[in-house]
Amino acid sequence: MSNIVAIVGRPNVGKSTLFNRLTETRQAIVDDMSGVTRDRHYGKAEWIGREFTVIDTGGYVAHSEDVFETAIREQVIIAIEEATVILFMVDVTTGVTDLEDDVANILRRSKKPVFVVANKVDSNKLNYESSTFYSLGLGDIYDISAMTGSGTGDLLDAVVDKF
Ligand code: GDP
Ligand code: MG
Repeated sequence: MSNIVAIVGRPNVGKSTLFNRLTETRQAIVDDMSGVTRDRHYGKAEWIGREFTVIDTGGYVAHSEDVFETAIREQVIIAIEEATVILFMVDVTTGVTDLEDDVANILRRSKKPVFVVANKVDSNKLNYESSTFYSLGLGDIYDISAMTGSGTGDLLDAVVDKF
C-alpha cells in the first residue's frame, strides 16, 4: 500500500500551499463527496524517488466555532487512522492557539509519526520564535516556507525516512 502523508492544522496556516507545492503538476485526486470527505484532497507526490500520497485537509464550511473545531478534530482522527506520517502545520506569525493545544493532545496519544511544521518562515532575517512550538510536546520543529519552498527538503528527508 502507498505511503500517505496527511497535512492537518487550522485554517490559514498554509496547508494547501504546501500541498500544491508537493503535488505540483501531478494530478490531484479530488472527489466531491459530502462532509469530511469533501474536505480532503488527495494528490500524488515524490521525493528522492519515493512516491507517496499527500492529503490536504480543510476548506471547512462551519457555521460556528464549535462546528469548526469539531471538523478539525475529525480530520486529525482520520489522519491518525489512515496516514503513514502526519504533518501538523502551525504558523510562526501567530504562535500556539488553544485549538492547536487540543490537536497536539490528540496527536501525542497516537502512535503515528508526527512532524510539527512551522510555516511562513520566509526569511532568516526575521526573528521567528518557532521554538514556542516545543510546548506542543511533539518533538522537533521543522521550519519551512511553503511559499518559497525553503526548508521543505529537510522536512521531506525526515518524512520519507518513516516509510
Ligand atoms: P490553509 O488554509 O491552511 O490551506 O492555508 P493556505 O495554503 O490557503 O494559505 C493561507 C494564506 O497563507 C495564503 O494567503 C497563503 O498565501 C499564505 N501562505 C502560505 N504559505 C506561506 C508562507 O510560507 N509564507 C507566507 N508569508 N505566507 C504563506
Ligand atoms: Mg486549505
